[in-house]
Amino acid sequence: MTIVCKFGGTSVATAAKILKIRDFVASNPDRRYVVVSAPGKRFPGDEKITDMLRRCIRARSAGADWLVIFGRIIKRYDEIISKLDINLDLSAEYEKIAGVIETGEPTQHDYIESRGEYLMGLVMARVLGYEFVDAAELIKFDRYGYNEDFTQDLVASQLIGVPQAVVPGYYGAMLDGRIKIFDRGGSDITGAIIARGVSAKLYENCTDVAGVLACDPRIVPEAHTVLEMTHKEARQFAYMGATVLHPDALLPVWRANIPTRVLNPFDSDAKSTLISDSVHHDEGSIVGVAGRKGFFCISITESSMNPDIGFAQSILQIIADKKVAIEHMPPGDLDSLSFIIDGRYRELARPLAAAMQKKYRDAEIEIKYDIALLAIVGEGMAGAIGTMARLTKSVAAKGINLEIANQGAIQRVILLGVKDEDADNAIRAIYHDCIAPVAESSFARRIARVSG
Ligand code: ASP
Repeated sequence: MTIVCKFGGTSVATAAKILKIRDFVASNPDRRYVVVSAPGKRFPGDEKITDMLRRCIRARSAGADWLVIFGRIIKRYDEIISKLDINLDLSAEYEKIAGVIETGEPTQHDYIESRGEYLMGLVMARVLGYEFVDAAELIKFDRYGYNEDFTQDLVASQLIGVPQAVVPGYYGAMLDGRIKIFDRGGSDITGAIIARGVSAKLYENCTDVAGVLACDPRIVPEAHTVLEMTHKEARQFAYMGATVLHPDALLPVWRANIPTRVLNPFDSDAKSTLISDSVHHDEGSIVGVAGRKGFFCISITESSMNPDIGFAQSILQIIADKKVAIEHMPPGDLDSLSFIIDGRYRELARPLAAAMQKKYRDAEIEIKYDIALLAIVGEGMAGAIGTMARLTKSVAAKGINLEIANQGAIQRVILLGVKDEDADNAIRAIYHDCIAPVAESSFARRIARVSG
């Protein structure tokens, strides 16, 4: 039986935490493969190593003094090592990285940004007495992106003869050997890839919070831990703003049907979340609400649209030509279509509208900015009568106007759009009126079931 553990940046930020991780890993011999992030923040206002490495790159490009920043990175690792009672000298590694930064070569940016994980991998391997296996040897990208099939075969074949290993998170390599990174937070993905590759019985995603919370604790400090959720729910949730997990991290383990536990290794009393497809759902239960702000919605109304075959396709083509991704298409009316688009494309809103207007001269085009989307997630919502009614009633009672309301046919997610400024209030209302009461009663039922 094999468990893969991934430790995030805050978990490896200090020597004291690394020592606790050593005990945690040692407490179960099934914890045979460990994936690590780069050291994160030690206290509010501190800087993550990955961000410091990025600053080195920027300073070098601007001709500024990057060595001061790099010196601080070295100091952080050396400080950690000095408190760990291990024999490890990273000076040759530091020198090599500094040499690459000095070249100022843009093709090396991913290499530089990934070195936080690489160095932490070397440290953790020494602390645990596990073999260090470089992610560049296991995780492969080609010109289309991450090459899943090739990678999974490589991980399986390379790790089969390695009983215990530490693998640095966040990066892999192109087929020509050049280092390539995932998105920020990508060590979660590495952990899931390794878990699938070694056919783990469990993927433990270790963080410093008590699992996945039913909503953002900055908005609802008393938000409870979701004890169990399915992969589909967790992915929706992560995508819509639950930062505890990278949304793509769930794909490899989901495909292989490997359960994931999100837990806090520093607090054995803390609750944790099990993500698994054998989770039982009470009818009507909502797992949680996650929200993201800053979307805009572009709507086009054209009176002759309805009978016009290919109208929707031509609008979609205009959006695609501008290289803009559509987030959602809320239901329109007889003569209109609407598209919700992430705020990162905000400066393309007007050019998009202009391109639509050029093609359909008589159309009315409207853009609404600063829209927040709230995703209310729960497989238990399917077939449960009155869920949408309860949600809208709760938001209305706070005097909040719903800009958009959309329930997918699968009934796993309900999306509500409100103005950005109303989002936090709407989340609080939904949590208190529609999520917490149901969670409490289903928890009570579960306890009753267990105690016979
Ligand atoms: N160190 C990277 C970041 O800060 C990757 C990770 O931690 O997963 O995003």
